Amino acid sequence: MNISPSPTLAVDAKAKALKAAGEDVCGFGAGEPDFDTPEFIKEAAIRALREGRTKYAPAAGIPELREKLAERWVAVNGFSRLEPSQVIVSPGGKYSCYLAILSVCSPGDEVLIPSPYWVSYPEMVKLAGAEPKILATGDQREFRLSPEQLAKAITSRTRLLILNSPSNPTGAVYSREELEKLVEVALRHNIYILSDEIYEQLLYDGARHCSPASFGEEAARSVITVSGFSKTYSMTGWRLGTMAAPPGVAKAVADLQSQTTSNATTFAQYGALEALRQPKEASQAVAAMLEVFDGRRKALHAGLGEVPRVTCLLAQGAFYLFPRISELGMNSTDFASALLEKEKVAVVPGVAFGAEGYVRLSYAVSDEVMEKGVERMNRFCASLQ
Ligand SMILES: *Cc1c(COP(=O)(O)O)cnc(C)c1O
Repeated sequence: MNISPSPTLAVDAKAKALKAAGEDVCGFGAGEPDFDTPEFIKEAAIRALREGRTKYAPAAGIPELREKLAERWVAVNGFSRLEPSQVIVSPGGKYSCYLAILSVCSPGDEVLIPSPYWVSYPEMVKLAGAEPKILATGDQREFRLSPEQLAKAITSRTRLLILNSPSNPTGAVYSREELEKLVEVALRHNIYILSDEIYEQLLYDGARHCSPASFGEEAARSVITVSGFSKTYSMTGWRLGTMAAPPGVAKAVADLQSQTTSNATTFAQYGALEALRQPKEASQAVAAMLEVFDGRRKALHAGLGEVPRVTCLLAQGAFYLFPRISELGMNSTDFASALLEKEKVAVVPGVAFGAEGYVRLSYAVSDEVMEKGVERMNRFCASLQ
């Protein structure tokens, strides 16, 4: 099967190998928060283990968690209603995305993916036998798809549009108005939308998150929403993703999951449940993390501003910046590998996200690494003149 390995994990692996060999590496490749999971969530999972919650659970998730998630999507994200049966808990948001794609796409279908995109989408589409169709956006358009561009790309074979706001790798956040226009086009052509909202709580500068599935009855029948605990609560290793889907899709996803992985880890789900049962504590934990991220976001953006011939938007979400390096006269792969070799700084080449001429830097790193890394990058870029 012609599937590429995840390039973001590959950069991380190479940086870790150099580090293990004793090199002083500044790694901006990481795709996960550098904080620990909040203590009260860990405690709840430990309690669940002690209480013997060590057995199979219903394939689609423990009922308490599905109920709480449904409530949250209504209360916080503005869904007009959502039954717990429409909520599926999966082993990771990545798997939630894959099951969503698999459940609606057949061989021959086209799936529209705006670039820069999260690396796994096109490969997941291919695994489903469908065809990824990339719609390029750039920094001039702040990495956002326009409704005109979407309308032009839709054919009779188009089945699904994938949206990801806040975005990995760009950190771009769509406004409500922008999303409304895109949803309107999608509904007019009767295509599904997969809305990957895994970074929904990681926002800065007063940016607001908006869920397309909340735009009324018709939208609720066409939008599959994916979120999860990994990024919000620093729970990447727990492997817990969540989905809210129209009833037919939710049924297909639950069936697929029951025949492949079965339930996400039972005691992990009880830990996650605590985040929803204690919203105050949970939002305090997120706010504390966001404050640190925001400081780093500004510092990294300012630092990159000093690097000759590199330009960068100040993104309003997630924990990435996506500077343009095309003025330096080399492609993103050569840039990333020379930077790692010469200065021991790890970044992910933009080409991995379908965007040549850019690189992705994660600011889920310590201040010290960031300061040192930017200084080295500055030196490296200056040496290219
Ligand atoms: C991290 C991430 C996910 C899911 O991560 P999991 O660890 O599988 O929960 C989904 N979409 C995007 C865009 C991501 O960056």
